[in-house]
Amino acid sequence: MSLFNVYPLFDITPVKAKDVYVYDENGVEYLDLYGGHAVISIGHSHPKYVKNISDQVAKLGFYSNSIQNPLQVNLAEKLVQLSGCKDYELFLCNSGAEANENALKLASFHNGKKKVIAFKNGFHGRTSAAVAATDNAKIIAPINAQQEVELLDLGNLDALEKALANNDVCAVIIECIQGVGGLDESTAEFYEGIDKLCKTYNTCFIADEVQSGFGRTGDFFAFQQYNVTPDIIAMAKGMGNGFPIGGILIHPNIKASFGLLGTTFGGNHLACVASSTVLEVIESEQLLRNAKDISAYFIEKAQGISSIKHLKGRGLMLGLEFDFPIAELRKKLIFKHQIFTGSAKNPNLIRILPPLTIQKKHIDQLFEALKTELDT
Ligand code: PLP
Repeated sequence: MSLFNVYPLFDITPVKAKDVYVYDENGVEYLDLYGGHAVISIGHSHPKYVKNISDQVAKLGFYSNSIQNPLQVNLAEKLVQLSGCKDYELFLCNSGAEANENALKLASFHNGKKKVIAFKNGFHGRTSAAVAATDNAKIIAPINAQQEVELLDLGNLDALEKALANNDVCAVIIECIQGVGGLDESTAEFYEGIDKLCKTYNTCFIADEVQSGFGRTGDFFAFQQYNVTPDIIAMAKGMGNGFPIGGILIHPNIKASFGLLGTTFGGNHLACVASSTVLEVIESEQLLRNAKDISAYFIEKAQGISSIKHLKGRGLMLGLEFDFPIAELRKKLIFKHQIFTGSAKNPNLIRILPPLTIQKKHIDQLFEALKTELDT
């Protein structure tokens, strides 16, 4: 049977990985500045992560959510400690799209409204419900068959207020730094304006931190740069360092009731151990600090390459924008220099989403390669 062919593939087969390096079947070493799409937070095959998951699978890998699971409580406690989101409650699921699905559903249950506002160039996943602001601004997908999504321009508070004033919007969903779209950010005034308008019009503010959360930007969540209190925070990617896990943090103004949300696999024992270990390592290795320090170093090095037109992003969620399409340059980085990087919807942008354990010498390696290719 062949695989359903939906991904263009690079001709490389990784078979093992360690920290920031990935090795193919011929033993060739690649520097991973992509982290499998911002997923690898504490480095590949971190020894503590390997041990904790191995120990847990030998004891109990899975049991149902209708029986006590102290590992979920343990994860919730660690999350509060590291994120500072102390008033929130945790619901666990398996991916980013699922986190957003649950967030949107919950918002609609909470305030009884149906419409969703998202922003052009945003990306919230690939299920029918969470899809809305996806691959291009033209897609307006229904949510739960009755829901409708309107896409607004980033930064336009007047348009947002006009839309909310109809009183039929259950949620505004936004990435405080756009990931797949190409690292665009608006102003503090805009994000704080969303927060205020949502409170005025009884609409839920959903912060999609699926890509930017878990320390990626140097803050635990990207929205924490602003004075905002999202009603729901969606998480996934870096949360499990490769083990599939997602979740939402829910503000106490939204009340739980039995049957409101549910999942078979969400919050299983292995996923909880994976994510708790990620948090332990983020703390013990001071990876938020490292993300900020290495980011500063990266920015300094980027000044030395004149063909970089813009440097975008924060922490270790970074983009290098050129005035030409980067597809060929990315291929050279992989095949000539053995460096993985990411692309975005913006064809001129290289995305850098490395493990948060990355060091200066790895950044040097990237800029040496860029210098060689760009001849500066
Ligand atoms: N939200 C954001 C901001 C994302 O970047 C992504 C994936 O790239 C998703 C949601 C969807 O996550 P998943 O692919 O785990 O369903």
